[in-house]
Amino acid sequence: MAVARTPLIAGNWKMNLDHLQAVAFVQKLHWTLKDAAHEDGSVEVAVFPPFTDIRTVQTLIDADKIPFAFGAQDISTHDSGAYTGEVSGAFLSKLSCRYVIIGHSERREYHHETDEIVAAKVRAALKHGIVPVICVGETLEQREESGPTAVSVAQLRVALEAVSADDDFVVAYEPVWAIGTGQVASPEQAQEVCAALREVISEALGADVAAKTRVLYGGSVKSGNIASFMREPDVDGALVGGASLVVDEFASIIRFQKHVGV
Ligand code: PEP
Repeated sequence: MAVARTPLIAGNWKMNLDHLQAVAFVQKLHWTLKDAAHEDGSVEVAVFPPFTDIRTVQTLIDADKIPFAFGAQDISTHDSGAYTGEVSGAFLSKLSCRYVIIGHSERREYHHETDEIVAAKVRAALKHGIVPVICVGETLEQREESGPTAVSVAQLRVALEAVSADDDFVVAYEPVWAIGTGQVASPEQAQEVCAALREVISEALGADVAAKTRVLYGGSVKSGNIASFMREPDVDGALVGGASLVVDEFASIIRFQKHVGV
């Protein structure tokens, strides 16, 4: 029997919204979805604020019983010690972070994170009971050189060395050329790579794990294109950057089930 995968719509705020703006944003998003009679549970909603907002978002979500998950945008490979500026998975776990984004192309590019560092961060997340959202994706040059799937497949293979079949994790295919550029991948392009990534999961951890693991697409997702991605069999949600900072737009992405078929 096919396993039903709950779609995950995840908003990566990057270095946007301070902790006061975060409160206003999360409250407004919650009200907007309520007003639209959005059915909680039909889609998992997750927000990824900057570190300085997490405690505030946690308190708000807890106090108002808001049905959103939240996570961090990065994690240290270390648990504690003399690592100035780093944030331990132990601390994120204490803040009840369900998720952490690992291997985002901005961290790979600007912070020189290698596949091995990504794997170490995945290991750190899992050690502290946090679900890693493992990001992979190719630049345009890499796509032209080695085809659409080779880079993402190779990146995921290394990251999965840190994962065992009992672990919960999410994979996000984010073509670098589509992030923040408005140059969105086609649904067919997203499907091709997401299917290849599911195959990698199957080879590494077995068919059952592959069948239950969510594979997201990310890169210039908007309310106007989300439904076309969600029709693809191997796309289980989206990692959203820019559009996750606009309440009405993000709410509309979350409500994609209302406009599938449009
Ligand atoms: C991202 O940064 O993960 C992302 C997908 O950004 P955007 O939606 O703005 O392209």
